Amino acid sequence: MLGDEKRIVLSFDDGPGPVSALESILGTLRENDIKAEFYVLGDEVRQFPEATRMIVDQGHDIQNHSWSHPNLAQETEEEVRRELERTQDIIEEVSGVRPTKIRPPYGAGGFRGHLDPELVRVAEELSLAIVTWDIDTEDWKAPQGLGEEKIAYIEEQFTQMPRKVSFNVLMHILAGTARDLPSFISRLREWGFTIAEP
Ligand SMILES: [Zn+2]
Repeated sequence: MLGDEKRIVLSFDDGPGPVSALESILGTLRENDIKAEFYVLGDEVRQFPEATRMIVDQGHDIQNHSWSHPNLAQETEEEVRRELERTQDIIEEVSGVRPTKIRPPYGAGGFRGHLDPELVRVAEELSLAIVTWDIDTEDWKAPQGLGEEKIAYIEEQFTQMPRKVSFNVLMHILAGTARDLPSFISRLREWGFTIAEP
C-alpha cells in the first residue's frame, strides 16, 4: 500500500484563529489520538491567548510562523529578526513554551537550495530550525478543505516520492479543513500510513 512502513506528521499553519476551526481540529486530533505541529502567527497569539494555550495544553507542538505573515525572503535582516523574535517572545509569554522551529510563510527562503541568508542568520541566533513541508494539501484553495480533488492531488504527491519514508503534511486552520479532517485522517490510515508524533 501507498503508506506501508511510512510515517506522517500533520502540521497546521496560520493560527491560532479562527478559534472555532481550531477547536474542531483539536477535537478531531484528540479523538484520533494524534499529536500535531501548529505554526502560529505572533499577532494572532496576541489576539487569542486562550486558544494558544489550548494547543499546548493538549500536548501539541507550537512553533513560529512569523508575526504578520510577510515574505521573509524579501525583508531586511532587521525586519526578519523583529518578526521572529517578537513571535518567540509572545508564544513563550502566553504558553510558557519557546518554539524550536520556524516555518517561513509561503516557504519563502526556507527550501534547500533557496535558503535566504538573512533568515538563516536570524534563525541561528534564535536557535530555530528552518523547516518547510513535504506534502502540500492546498487546503486553502477553492473549494477550501480536503475534498476529493485535493485527496487526488495529495495521493499523486505521495506516489511521486516512492522512496521517501517520512512526510510532513501541511494544512491550515480553516473551517473547511476542520470539517474534512476526520475523513482525511481515515484516508491516510487506509493508505497504510502511520501518523507519528512531531
Ligand atoms: Zn502561512
